[in-house]
Amino acid sequence: MAQPRLPTLGDGGDLTAGAERRLGDSIIRELYRDPDYIDDPVLVEYVQTQWLALLAAARARGELSPELDERFAWEVLLGRDRSVNAFALPGGYLGVHLGLIGVVASRDELASVLAHELSHVTQRHIARLMAQQSRQTPLMIGAMILGALAASKSPDAAQALAIGGQALVVQNQLNFSRDMEREADRVGYSLMAPAGFAPQGFVGMFDKLQQANRLNDNGSWPYLRSHPLTTQRIADMQSRLPPGASTLAPAPALEHAMVSARARVLSRPGVDVLRQWQAEPRSTGFAAQPAARRAGALYAAALAASQLRDHAGARALLVPLQAVVQGDAPAQRQVQLLAAELALAAGDVQAARQALSAGGGAASPDRPTLLLRTQVLLRAGQAQDMAGPLQTWLATHPRDAGAWQLLASVWQAQGQVLRSVRAEAEAHAARYDYAAAVDRFKAGQDVARKGSAPADFVEASIIDTRLRAVEALAREQAQQAAER
Ligand SMILES: [Zn+2]
Repeated sequence: MAQPRLPTLGDGGDLTAGAERRLGDSIIRELYRDPDYIDDPVLVEYVQTQWLALLAAARARGELSPELDERFAWEVLLGRDRSVNAFALPGGYLGVHLGLIGVVASRDELASVLAHELSHVTQRHIARLMAQQSRQTPLMIGAMILGALAASKSPDAAQALAIGGQALVVQNQLNFSRDMEREADRVGYSLMAPAGFAPQGFVGMFDKLQQANRLNDNGSWPYLRSHPLTTQRIADMQSRLPPGASTLAPAPALEHAMVSARARVLSRPGVDVLRQWQAEPRSTGFAAQPAARRAGALYAAALAASQLRDHAGARALLVPLQAVVQGDAPAQRQVQLLAAELALAAGDVQAARQALSAGGGAASPDRPTLLLRTQVLLRAGQAQDMAGPLQTWLATHPRDAGAWQLLASVWQAQGQVLRSVRAEAEAHAARYDYAAAVDRFKAGQDVARKGSAPADFVEASIIDTRLRAVEALAREQAQQAAER
């Protein structure tokens, strides 16, 4: 991982919300460059929706100060990693490994982890931790966080660090105190029902952690390392369930089973495992399994087949999957998206378009549909109509680098060179890579000056304005790096 460039915050002491956000921005700028960072629209949407529902509950319950609400990013970043982990970062960012999504049995279990991590943020645990360690510069803290994240992704790396005597230091510095953990459990639990989740998700997740603990399998469960499951935590949680309440969460939804299966397939389990998953629907007794189990297995089988380039096999698996999700709208939408994705992977643009139009051509499509539709139409050479919807989306989601990148491709395909270069620049700026953004904006100015394209004065003046703004940000970033 590249050397992090982190802002200075003065001599420690109080960490303002703005300073914490800047620290978070610097950390995630490095994470965006991590080869394991993955912007999978389906998984991002699923986790982000839960994160925002919990955030709204925290706001309504007065757990979230208006200042944090406004200043923090409240953004989820996914890592394509099979280990089970989630971590709150400074500034309202949440990192989630695909391994966690792949292992939770219900949306409520996933929400319990998000609610706990969100509460570390809203209760300013990160700021308090940093204030306690005021002798450490923010650079050291940021480097420590990045180092610990890298170590958590690979048990080998963690061991190598341990040999050097560093791992314990890193872990101890990052770990919240037991009191903070209990507070995050308590506040997180209180958000569950108001956010629309079954509080039993906490119990289910604790059971999972306990089982993993028994197997002593800490290497693939970094979350367990950073969140030791004490009898106190378990007792606290059980006492919170209303007397007589079932400890069982509601049956898992079809949609969750499929999204969880998607996370497992995308976490690169290897060819042998993909083959096993592809074969699972043919195993004896499969038809007698509960619907959610079958939906998850069929989804995994179809996606695995596609990854193994067995496109006909993938398409065939969609038929029984469509039958299982019949009458369940969220699950049907996931199957439509999957059908389009599989058709696109097979190069069957016509089938991909059909699959997407089955969902109805909503005027303001959700992000997975918008991005997938753009990719399909780009392949068909007919993406000109997508510039409008992408710009509409970006007006309310200006930090969506993936959407900027696709808009750049759409404009490129239309021969709108100047606009395409500007969109590329915005994609870099959205990931806080201001130096790269400045490069692209300047390339845009060159294009405008050379006048090889028809003069576009409006576009050229937008580029000039944006270049000045981003240059100022780039200077600030460079200065912060130099001050350290
Ligand atoms: Zn925690």
